Amino acid sequence: MLRPLPHPVTPFANETLDSYRHRLAAANQTEFRTMRNPSRWLQCPLNELERLEVLSGQPRTTLLWALPELRRHAPDVVAPPEVFIFNTRAACDLCSERSGNNGQPIQVYLRGLHDNVCIRHRRWLSCGRANVFEQIDLSHAPEVVRAQRRLDRLERRHGTFALGTTYRHCERFWREIDRRALVHGDRDSVLARIYRPDSKTLPDRFDLIRSQRFHRAANYPQVARFTKMIISLAQRPKTERKAAHLTGTTQIEAEQVFHLDHRPRGITLPWLRNGLVGLVEVVADLTHDGEPEETSS
Ligand SMILES: [Zn+2]
Repeated sequence: MLRPLPHPVTPFANETLDSYRHRLAAANQTEFRTMRNPSRWLQCPLNELERLEVLSGQPRTTLLWALPELRRHAPDVVAPPEVFIFNTRAACDLCSERSGNNGQPIQVYLRGLHDNVCIRHRRWLSCGRANVFEQIDLSHAPEVVRAQRRLDRLERRHGTFALGTTYRHCERFWREIDRRALVHGDRDSVLARIYRPDSKTLPDRFDLIRSQRFHRAANYPQVARFTKMIISLAQRPKTERKAAHLTGTTQIEAEQVFHLDHRPRGITLPWLRNGLVGLVEVVADLTHDGEPEETSS
């Protein structure tokens, strides 16, 4: 009724349960349906983890470390993820090959919007890889790989939830800065090294989506630096922060770090000032290390 399948498949780090079940089924030439519910008619007393343990023949801890969805069955062994991110994407092609996936696609969970690069293989992974959306080679843009390392360090220090949320706010703000053409210099230099549109073919409807991905990758080093700077401003004591906001020091310090292409004019100036102050305060709430903040304002 429920016995180990003959061909074992090693689960991949952060793999989705469905992806693993599909690969296990493919390797053993059985149906995915069987994998999901091997004994529906029998009131199987085993939970998902126990069932998969028998079917896959993999040690319990291996399954738990690799497949986040199973952790709720044994939170004492490996704690479930701090936040459950519902975004998934294909794993790095080269990592998949190394793990012996036999050409089967592997889907993994993202740790957050900041999780984009395979550091080992220097590849930009995000946004899927159906047809034209191939993974981007970053061999000529080491700063994009360094940005991932920088964000990983911040994640270890502040936790996945705080860093993930902070990054999301910072990236959104950066998109606005980008839209106002304040910081194109560095981005264009990266873009030129990773994106070579085929000049022989006419642009088609995929090119826009395609180039958006490349733009996101090209902006990533700056967004990582920006995130780090916002966190360091946010970590200061509340009174010091408030004073910096009032005197305009927040904006001055920010501009020193991320170097604007030109001086903002007109309504952009107050927009930038207020935006930065708001962002620093949101991030202060997310990242303060637990020491009580002064309540008076
Ligand atoms: Zn890889």
